[in-house]
Amino acid sequence: MKCQYCYSGPAEDATKTWALIPLCEPHYQEIRSETMDYYKKRITYEDRKAYHRISHRIPWSRVNMEDDWK
Ligand SMILES: [Zn+2]
Repeated sequence: MKCQYCYSGPAEDATKTWALIPLCEPHYQEIRSETMDYYKKRITYEDRKAYHRISHRIPWSRVNMEDDWK
């Protein structure tokens, strides 16, 4: 699988997954550290820029749940 975050340029091979989404190592680390900041309340849900790049692909993400409620 290719990294689902490498949206511009050639995608790297995914070596990790985040919420079942294949990611390359650098992007996995980016989302991981961003999520840590979120849980420590350093950033808001809306500030999770890296996460939101892939959140629409995560079946149980808040984005998709909100779609269900509309
Ligand atoms: Zn990547």
